[in-house]
Amino acid sequence: MADTLFAKIIDRQIPADIVYEDDLCLAFRDINPQAPAHVLLVPKKPIDMLASAQAEDQALLGHLLLAAGQIARQLKVESAFRVVINNGESSGQSVFHLHLHILAGRPFRWPPG
Ligand code: 5GP
Repeated sequence: MADTLFAKIIDRQIPADIVYEDDLCLAFRDINPQAPAHVLLVPKKPIDMLASAQAEDQALLGHLLLAAGQIARQLKVESAFRVVINNGESSGQSVFHLHLHILAGRPFRWPPG
């Protein structure tokens, strides 16, 4: 997999407003926020999209959800936040390194657009 924008952020080649990091993942604020709080959570392992994840990634995927909850608590938005994964261009994915959007701070409608 070619180095994506997010791989460069993980490697500190491109700056980002980092809010959380551990051995397996990194979270930073979205450059074009769609809510008052908008954080991107990425695994350090380069998986291009959710559909490419394999059984060997089970623990990593669980880790990402636990980290999302921890980040929400850290940002003090744990009572109301939305987690989104875009998978594939038509779903809105533009960076092909798996990432969770963590959005909070405004009302969210359902169904999503
Ligand atoms: P996607 O559309 O792939 O689900 O989400 C990619 C996200 O990356 C978008 O919300 C976009 O605003 C964000 N993004 C694009 N370029 C940069 C950047 O250079 N820095 C940061 N922090 N976010 C970026």
